[in-house]
Amino acid sequence: MVDRVGRPLTSLRVSVTDRCNMRCHYCMPEDDYVWLPRASLLTYEEMARLVAVFATLGVRKVRLTGGEPLLRKDLATLVAMLQREHRLHDLALTTNGTLLAGEAERLRRAGLDRITVSLDTLRPERLERFAKSGRHAEIVAGIRAARRAGFERLKINSVVIRGYNDDELADLIGFGRAEGAEIRFIEYMDVGGATRWSRDQVVPRSEILERLGRTYGSIAAVAHDSSAPAARFRLADGTEFGIIASVTAPFCAACDRSRVTADGTWFLCLYAGAGVDLRQPVRGGATDAELAATITAAWHARADRGAEQRLALPVRGALYPIDGLRADPHREMHTRGG
Ligand code: SAM
Repeated sequence: MVDRVGRPLTSLRVSVTDRCNMRCHYCMPEDDYVWLPRASLLTYEEMARLVAVFATLGVRKVRLTGGEPLLRKDLATLVAMLQREHRLHDLALTTNGTLLAGEAERLRRAGLDRITVSLDTLRPERLERFAKSGRHAEIVAGIRAARRAGFERLKINSVVIRGYNDDELADLIGFGRAEGAEIRFIEYMDVGGATRWSRDQVVPRSEILERLGRTYGSIAAVAHDSSAPAARFRLADGTEFGIIASVTAPFCAACDRSRVTADGTWFLCLYAGAGVDLRQPVRGGATDAELAATITAAWHARADRGAEQRLALPVRGALYPIDGLRADPHREMHTRGG
C-alpha cells in the first residue's frame, strides 16, 4: 500500500505514554504540561490489535516510544504480545535509558529485537542542567545492561545543539565504540515542544562531519537503506555512526513512517497538524476490516512533506507557541513519539 507519492506504509511508531521522567530542553522545556486524559490511553490489547491491523496493510517495523516508554507498567507484556505478530520483522524501543537496567533482560526475553537509548552528553552536570535529570549513571548502566542482555545492535541517539554538546561529538563516538553501540547524531528539530528552537542552535550534518574529521581524519559515506532516516558514515578505524539531518536534508521523499499516540491518534507526518482518531472506532466496535479501511483511505490520501515545507520557509522559528501546545497536547513531540 502506497501513498499519493508512492511511499509505502512500512514503519510504525507506537507511543505508549505521553509522560516522561526527563525534561530535555529541546522537547519538554516547560514547568507544566497538559497530559492526555488517562481514560483515553489505549490498553496493551488495544495497541496490539491496532498493530495487527497495520501489519495486514504492510507495516513490518514497530518502534515503541513515548514520552518515556519504560514509565508504562509492564512494557515487556506489550512486547510479548507484539512479538507474536509474525508479519513484523523488527520490534524496537527508544528509551532515555533511566529505567533500562532493571528491564533489559525482561524485554529481551519478551522478544524485543533492538534498543535505541537517547544520550546527548557524557557529562552528568550537563544532563542535570539541560534535562533536569540527575540520572546520568542510570542511563550508562542501562546501556551496559542492554548489552549484557544480548541487544547486539544498540544505538545511541544524540541530539546536537550548539553551545550545549557540540564540543562532545568526538567523545560520544568514543563512548559508543567503547560500549559497543552506534552513535546517531540528530539535528535539533523544530518539532512541537521545542519552544526554544532557533536555527542558529542547529549544527548541520556538514559541520558535524567537519568537526569529527578534525579528530578522526577521513570519513567515508556508507551505503544505506534509502528509507532509513540516518545517513551512515565510517571512520578509518571502521567505527560507524549515523547522522539524521532532518532539518538541513529532510528525508520526506522516502518517509515510510507514521505514529500512533498513546490515545490512539494516528499521525502520518511528524509535523502534521491533525491526526486520525483510531481510538473511537476501536472502542466503538469497529471490525478489523473497518479499521483497515480507515487506515487505507488515510494513507492513500497522504501527501505530507512536513520537514521539506519547514525547510522552505524564509523565516523559521518554533513550530508552536506554548499556548498552541497547551490547546492540543497531540502537537507535542513527547505525545507523538520521537
Ligand atoms: N523518552 C524516549 C527517549 O528519550 O528516547 C523516547 C521519546 S523521545 C521524544 C524520542 C527521541 O526524540 C529522542 O531520541 C529525542 O532525543 C528525540 N527528540 C526529542 N525532541 C527533539 C528535537 N527537538 N530535535 C531532535 N530530536 C528530538
